[in-house]
Amino acid sequence: MRYRFIFNGIVQGVGFRPTIYKIAISLNLRGFVLNSSDGVVVEIEGKRKDDFLDLLYKNLPPLAKIDSIKKETLPIVGYKEFKILSSKETKKTTFISPDKSICKECIEEMFDKSNRRYLYPFINCTNCGPRYTIIENIPYDRKNTSMKKFKMCNRCYQEYTNPLDRRYHAEPISCFECGPKLRVFGNGLIEFNSEIEKIKFIANKLKEGKIVALKGLGGFHLMCDGTNEEVVKELRIRKKRAKPFALMFKNLESIKKYCFLTKKEEELITSYEKPIVLVKQKKTLKFIADGIDRYGVFLPYTPLHLLLFEFIDFPLVATSANVSGEPIIKDVKELFEKLNGVFDFVLDNDRDIVNSCDDSVVEVALDKLVTIRSARGYAPFSIKTSSKKNILGVGANQKSTISIGFEGGVILSPHIGDLETIDSVEYFKNTIKTFKRLYEFEEDVIICDKHPFYESTKWALSQNKEVIKIQHHFAHALSVMFEHNLKGEFLAFIFDGTGYGDDGSIWGGEVFWVNRSSYKRLHYIKPFKLIGGEKGIKNPANLAVSLIDESLAKNYPNYKLVKSLKNAPFPLTSSMGRVFDVVAFLGGMIERNEYEGYSGLRIEKFYNEKIKEFIDLKVDKEIDFSEVFNFATRYKGEFELVSSVFINTIEDMMIKISKMYNLPVIVGGGVFQNRTLLSKVIKSLNPYFNQKIPLNDGGISVGQVAYGVWNL
Ligand code: ZN
Ligand code: ZN
Ligand code: FE
Repeated sequence: MRYRFIFNGIVQGVGFRPTIYKIAISLNLRGFVLNSSDGVVVEIEGKRKDDFLDLLYKNLPPLAKIDSIKKETLPIVGYKEFKILSSKETKKTTFISPDKSICKECIEEMFDKSNRRYLYPFINCTNCGPRYTIIENIPYDRKNTSMKKFKMCNRCYQEYTNPLDRRYHAEPISCFECGPKLRVFGNGLIEFNSEIEKIKFIANKLKEGKIVALKGLGGFHLMCDGTNEEVVKELRIRKKRAKPFALMFKNLESIKKYCFLTKKEEELITSYEKPIVLVKQKKTLKFIADGIDRYGVFLPYTPLHLLLFEFIDFPLVATSANVSGEPIIKDVKELFEKLNGVFDFVLDNDRDIVNSCDDSVVEVALDKLVTIRSARGYAPFSIKTSSKKNILGVGANQKSTISIGFEGGVILSPHIGDLETIDSVEYFKNTIKTFKRLYEFEEDVIICDKHPFYESTKWALSQNKEVIKIQHHFAHALSVMFEHNLKGEFLAFIFDGTGYGDDGSIWGGEVFWVNRSSYKRLHYIKPFKLIGGEKGIKNPANLAVSLIDESLAKNYPNYKLVKSLKNAPFPLTSSMGRVFDVVAFLGGMIERNEYEGYSGLRIEKFYNEKIKEFIDLKVDKEIDFSEVFNFATRYKGEFELVSSVFINTIEDMMIKISKMYNLPVIVGGGVFQNRTLLSKVIKSLNPYFNQKIPLNDGGISVGQVAYGVWNL
């Protein structure tokens, strides 16, 4: 008898075939392995064929992901040996692996003096290195990547063509002789005798307190010594940035000097994906994340980063090189055009980044992974399903992503950025083009947000295609349902900053009844006027003073102004994000909203779990937070009390509502990035929420596509 298997999933360009080859040889099996349009086909004959699958699962290469296996038992053919057959033309729907951090074997080789790749900054193998960021077209072959301009030397070619070598068909394979080269720029190109000299030079400049732009896997980082207050402050001024900076540490031990880590956080930090993980501060570093109690930390993930840390023993600020809200910059020309004057030196290289990809950002709430930004290491993120129609979801406007749904499944793009500049919108359109090319995809239907001013919506409507509009918070709920493959009815609490409501007002504190095709708005935060419009978001003072009792409001300097604007035609909102802003302002924790999410982070910092008090809000269709606002005003300055009572009150309100309906609970929207609130709610309501899909607006495109998959 002969077995025939067909494997689907991420099974190409990840060392899948050589693994099968090795296992087949070790079991003395005969037959073949082949990439075909149906997936990876394997046929085996021999006594020990029943051990094959088991061994395969035990030895699965780290980047491979099997989504499905089809097994057939057929009559014997009488194969003489086991062979890797050359690929037939493959269909483009084979999933593309995300980029992965350098693997253990490559690290060992890189620091092994006798190895020919000793200290080689671009070492990689089939288990690690760039993928999505270098791919121009499918199939994933060297000629379809930005490695095509580097002609493999003989020794690399030997490895590349040997099925028993770890670098068999490692498309970005290279070495000192044949691979990419580093380039250092100061005032012009600076010449060195060796690659390691270049890295050493850059390390010295970082020690001297200079700012360096360094090209990584998916784009440039701006880097400087995180312990040097002066240079960190200087970087803030030059980059005009208020948001916290991420820190790259040499190793786990050095992270622990500055942060408290849970076991789960350690696991994520050291995982293959090497995301930025938001963790609790232990030791203060000024100007890194002032006023909040978290750092975004990560470990070196490319050989180059590791080599740099050979000469450095302080944490490095590593922030994406971009203009605020725009995609990460991927080539040196653009770097000089857009950020000239921000950096002092550049460590560039001549391996082109085809698709830029920012760092991923995650956090842990009660031991559960929460994705805030899905990018390097995770994206493109694929979910196995099957869609009858080809559906393109174009997402929201902030934290833009796109998703496609087709026969092969649903695929979420990496984080694109905020669609607020021409370049971001350009990049959004390019991502759509890239996805269409890589997955040979042509949409039948486009699904977009209802917001008429979203750039993604405008783009959708300008295409000559069928367009479906899905309400923003319904899309948040659908995204959760899709990730967990939920069927039936649910009670969804969707709390976020801004989303266009069915009545044209701005929603964001919503309690829905939902199923896969429809929703009902059961409760919402009593709408209030967004005094100052979009600017009101930066200046919660105006909002705040309009929301408290007259007798209290009179004490605020902006009282008169706010009163005069009360009847001006500003939009109404039921946004929970704005409620956070108002409470943080009235409680005295913020003056202005320095950056998105700042008020929530301040409230988290001061949350004290020993304070059990809450305000027993009345739950009508409209939920009135006035009592909370007045409480915050009265106890202004008592940060712990105001924060804790506020968070406790939200939790209590959610519990009360869920008791009214007796349905399984979904939570979603950016407000739940607040892990204090999320952790409490996980305990009390055991809800479903987005974990691998971003739970903020980055997950909207998935929700949109989910609607299409289930309803078209
Ligand atoms: Zn490797
Ligand atoms: Zn070579
Ligand atoms: Fe949202």
